[in-house]
Amino acid sequence: MAGIAVIGAGTGAMTAAARLAVAGHRVAVFERGSTYGGAVGRYERDGFAFDTGPGLLHLPAVYRDLFLKTGREPLEACVGLAQVDPASRHVFADGTTATLPNASRAGVMEALDGALGAGCGERWSEVMVRAREAWDATRRPLLEEPLWADWRVLGRDPYPAVRRRGLFGRGRAKGPTTATLAGIAARELADPRLVALLESHALAHGFDPRTAPASAAVLPYMEQTFGRWYVRGGMRALAEALYERCRARGVEFTFGAEVVRITEKDGRAAGVELAGGRVVDAEYVVAGLDPAGLPALCGGREPWGADDVRPDGGAPRTARLTVCLALRGARPADAPHRTVVHAADREAELAAVFGGGDGRGHREPCARPTVAVLRPDDPATRPDDEHEAVTLTATVAPHGPVDWRDAETLRAAADGLVRAAGAAIPDLPERELWREVLSPADSGPVPGPALPGQEGRFLRPANRTRIPGLYAVGGWSHPGGGLAHAGMSGALVAGLIVHGDDWHGSQ
Ligand SMILES: Cc1cc2nc3c(=O)[nH]c(=O)nc-3n(C[C@H](O)[C@H](O)[C@H](O)COP(=O)(O)OP(=O)(O)OC[C@H]3O[C@@H](n4cnc5c(N)ncnc54)[C@H](O)[C@@H]3O)c2cc1C
Repeated sequence: MAGIAVIGAGTGAMTAAARLAVAGHRVAVFERGSTYGGAVGRYERDGFAFDTGPGLLHLPAVYRDLFLKTGREPLEACVGLAQVDPASRHVFADGTTATLPNASRAGVMEALDGALGAGCGERWSEVMVRAREAWDATRRPLLEEPLWADWRVLGRDPYPAVRRRGLFGRGRAKGPTTATLAGIAARELADPRLVALLESHALAHGFDPRTAPASAAVLPYMEQTFGRWYVRGGMRALAEALYERCRARGVEFTFGAEVVRITEKDGRAAGVELAGGRVVDAEYVVAGLDPAGLPALCGGREPWGADDVRPDGGAPRTARLTVCLALRGARPADAPHRTVVHAADREAELAAVFGGGDGRGHREPCARPTVAVLRPDDPATRPDDEHEAVTLTATVAPHGPVDWRDAETLRAAADGLVRAAGAAIPDLPERELWREVLSPADSGPVPGPALPGQEGRFLRPANRTRIPGLYAVGGWSHPGGGLAHAGMSGALVAGLIVHGDDWHGSQ
């Protein structure tokens, strides 16, 4: 029974902790903050409650598996899980709207034909069929197995190339594509609203469609196939259930405990040192933080080699601007849970979020960005039925290129989100009671899931490091960010520690 020190109480770290405890290990979690859950937070005021991190869950199977394997109660007995139907309404730049059902390929086809014109549904569906090929080809190595030592094979994009319509007839061209998501969107979808629909999925995960691999088409495929899910009471309820499960399995938590150093003995990770000087010995250290910060904790020693996927080698980082809106007046019964109001000027938005491509230089936030409007039909989020809690989010440049600590910049950007949300909630100005703006400077960059293609630039560092006994878990490690992917990283780290570093994933 090994002693394991876990740094941070984010969801990736907690999923690893619960699984390791069930395998018989003594697990102690050290969290510098005052609570668990990391990015999965809740803002509460005057009887209103808002998710401050993720608002919806994809691939709930990851958490079903975790709750089944760590205890007798299944996930559904621990949290209220509800499919979100319709999955989303889209308000495009030209004012067209399309309301898409949840987890129904035929339903999405029909809705797109009805909203955008005959043939649009089929064109979208063909892209989703190719996305499925990409998903099937890389699901195991990307989600269910530790990152391969020969990760460069994942640098090839599994999204199949298609011969150009009319020019060569339709059908498969040989070999994988090297296209970007924007490239296949323009070629295979043509209609600007379908293009915006595909690209908005990439943007929502923090990717620039102009540089993201074509394989990013798996993002809408995953949502369309496995659905979007809401956790009653807000996503924080999932973090609470995870914490309770850890506690029930004997995991110890210490809050207000910042790890300032990972100690080493004979070249192997041997424990952690906390601010204040306390040293805790352990046989394994699991680091649930951004691995870009690991060398500093390891006294300058690099946890990954020059030939490995490195924490700093990937795509530009993005953040999320969130506006919590307390509204007077009842939520209309037919309001969709999620509406995406697309940017008026997509090029201007991409330039504001990603700059010229190098991610450097000062940038102004986009005046009218793509905004997700979340309106959960959940009494736990409002003081009574005469009020409504609405959360607005937009993908933005991180703190740095934009000075998100500047009050005027933050206020103007929040105004832009609220203006855009007017397309989803026309009486918004009269209904607003108050708003709380959450600065991207406080929440930090948001990790997207790992993607194959583009020579591996969208992969995340392996969970196993070159320092024996030290493992990386959570959204900035393999297989990337988002609740489901971070949950998989926890399963992978637990598998590597329990079965040894040669473990290749569960069969
Ligand atoms: C604003 C925002 C919006 C998001 N929206 C979505 C979304 O819509 N959909 C989605 O799927 N995902 C979303 N995410 C991402 C998702 O929340 C995370 O990928 C997921 O929760 C996994 O987090 P993690 O395990 O990497 O840990 P994190 O949540 O990053 O937590 C890390 C923890 O480690 C602690 N820590 C760090 N350093 C130390 C140290 N030295 N000592 C002790 N403790 C330390 C931190 O305090 C923190 O609690 C969002 C994230 C943010 C911030």
